[in-house]
Amino acid sequence: MNDVMDMRFEVVPNGNKRSAQERAALMEDPGFGRVFSDHMVTIRWTADKGWHDAQVRAREPFSLDPACAVLHYAQEIFEGLKAYRSADEGVTMFRPQENARRFRESAERMAMPVLPDALFLQAIEELIRVDRDWVPTQEGGSLYLRPFMFASEAFLGVRPSAEYIFCVVACPVGSYFKGGAKPVTVWVSDDFTRAGPGGTGAAKCGGNYAASLVAQAEAYAQGCDQVVFLDSTERRWIEELGGMNVFFVFDDGSIMTPPLTGTILPGITRDSILTLARQQGRPVEERKYSIEDWRADAQSGRLREAFACGTAAVVSAIGEVRSTKGNFTIGNGGATGEVTETLREQLTAIQRGEAPGPDGWFR
Ligand code: PMP
Repeated sequence: MNDVMDMRFEVVPNGNKRSAQERAALMEDPGFGRVFSDHMVTIRWTADKGWHDAQVRAREPFSLDPACAVLHYAQEIFEGLKAYRSADEGVTMFRPQENARRFRESAERMAMPVLPDALFLQAIEELIRVDRDWVPTQEGGSLYLRPFMFASEAFLGVRPSAEYIFCVVACPVGSYFKGGAKPVTVWVSDDFTRAGPGGTGAAKCGGNYAASLVAQAEAYAQGCDQVVFLDSTERRWIEELGGMNVFFVFDDGSIMTPPLTGTILPGITRDSILTLARQQGRPVEERKYSIEDWRADAQSGRLREAFACGTAAVVSAIGEVRSTKGNFTIGNGGATGEVTETLREQLTAIQRGEAPGPDGWFR
């Protein structure tokens, strides 16, 4: 097996790089996840050689055998993190070690080989080095990095693949929600759940997202931005949104979020907000919260604010909750609450390097 700490990345010449003008035009209003940088990083894994063949090369399609395992049994995991321009024109990543750790844990859950954290980080850094010009300079912009790994063996037996490809691609992004920073409306799904005890809810595997799409489509049909999932056993405990964790803010200034019980994704933004709030001496709780209590507390005014958080959207206020049992608003529904706004500003200032964060949050 290779000593992965010494892995050399071969830089394959890329004749298809876009011109500075083409890049500028693409980056003007990139939206989310549609515009990609010029390169990708790939590393292969085989049972006999381990991790090998690390390359930085032109971003291009993969050629896959029709029997490629991922196409049949969805053995696939991914991560999402952002690189920001710092004030000194450098580029920094926000807590990438946490993404490396979560990627490793996802791999273990999905019976995939573990990519050492150092190699995960090195791969991302190699990509940023060649695609540095794709890191946006405009306010709110960042380079979204998408590391992923999939089963690439051509074999139809149901067992862990004997071959994998790890890859990183990147896209310059602006604001996640079309409406910018205005509060989002969420739909509480009655019919669909995302994860059950013993399942893969805490892993960032593609299958979780495939299973959530019909619920997300229902949310869109109801005029909502995101779906809220309840637990699969009692169908009353709030878990998370389709792609974000959720927080509640009470009239005593405390904040609360559902606990990590194995059925929700351990969000890095979630952890960052808990850390910041604790540092500021704000009362913080991780506990179960039911949809009935959410409705009653919103109506009584005990609940002042609610917000969703994740890498893509950072922090977004929730203004309205819709469900088959009736709709309710949070606060006045139309404006982002004070605590949500303060936490959002504090976190984005740290991410942009304008305010000091706790040690080890940057790389
Ligand atoms: N929950 C789900 C289901 C997600 O897809 C994400 C986005 N990765 C999150 C929560 C938030 O995680 P993070 O803050 O690490 O982006």
